[in-house]
Amino acid sequence: MIKFLDLQKINKQHKEDLKQAFERVLDSGWYILGSELKKFETEFAAYCGTKYAIGVANGLDALILIIRAYKELGYFKDGDEIIVPANTYIASVLAISANNLVPVLVEPDLETYNLNPDLIEKYITPRTVAILPVHLYGQLCDMERIMEIAKKHKLKVIEDCAQAHGATINGKRAGSFGDASGFSFYPGKNLGALGDGGAITTNDELLDDTLRALSNYGSHVKYENKFKGVNSRLDELQAALLGVKLQKLDEETAVKRQVASRYLNEINNAKITLPLLTSDSAHVWHLFVIRTHNREELQNYLSENGIQTLIHYPTPPHKQAAYKELNHLSFPISEKIHDEVLSLPISSVMSSEEVDTIITVINKY
Ligand SMILES: *Cc1c(COP(=O)(O)O)cnc(C)c1O
Repeated sequence: MIKFLDLQKINKQHKEDLKQAFERVLDSGWYILGSELKKFETEFAAYCGTKYAIGVANGLDALILIIRAYKELGYFKDGDEIIVPANTYIASVLAISANNLVPVLVEPDLETYNLNPDLIEKYITPRTVAILPVHLYGQLCDMERIMEIAKKHKLKVIEDCAQAHGATINGKRAGSFGDASGFSFYPGKNLGALGDGGAITTNDELLDDTLRALSNYGSHVKYENKFKGVNSRLDELQAALLGVKLQKLDEETAVKRQVASRYLNEINNAKITLPLLTSDSAHVWHLFVIRTHNREELQNYLSENGIQTLIHYPTPPHKQAAYKELNHLSFPISEKIHDEVLSLPISSVMSSEEVDTIITVINKY
């Protein structure tokens, strides 16, 4: 069986370095808000090309806290609207509603699966305060257009970078375009911890300062609480492990790009639509997502031939029981995407024989 994602194999490559990092933390006797976190935050901010990075407990919290911080700073209030793609993973939408703001869903582009800039302005109202683009599957959105629209309408831009660590346009990295960006280090993400983790990047000093307090009980100084904050921190152990994996990220992405390029060049089957690549550097291939009209049949066929695939995602947020207030809405492009997408195995530890097999089996379908 070719696994969809072999996390054991991925992390085993770095076993010695990860063990060393673990021992360093164990021996330090200091496990929360210490030197490992500071070091990782500095390295991650430098990697993304931002002034600040703030470690938090997970990617959802990263997005929730950004919006919360803008409320504390007086930019957003209850009932304000944030524009978000209709086909995103539900976390992007949850971050908005968790803050009592209103998610305004907009159709994606059918080719790139990303927010369609041509449609954004139609959805801007006097209550719109931000755009939340999601670099879905690892490919950067059209940030030049999105930033232009945001500037024209004086909106904040919050990037959801949970799937796009290291993607670049003209050398500028995911997480450095908008006003603030949320990252996830969930184990299966391109930069994955051995547990939960997340980070926020920004160039805004006041936002950085506010986020550091909000994520730590609302406190800048122990036992002094400026905000009704939460406990959402990246612990020393995960920060140390992530420091090891950050050093390997670009190498791993390069291997994924080779796999993706083989799929793009060698999969040739009229029943299958391949993803559109806007530029080599803009995609870090968190997922390689194809479309087909008879997905269940293709997925069963691949499974019978020893290839594990997954669906990202089977149901759009507006069709979920959690969002009854959105259930009446219709987004034909999103719904088509949710009906047709299938994710093929892609990782830095696949052998070229495995890639050969996948291509041969798909072309015979
Ligand atoms: C994974 C993911 C998140 C949430 O990250 P967690 O660390 O799992 O909380 C948010 N947005 C997108 C697009 C994701 O893929």
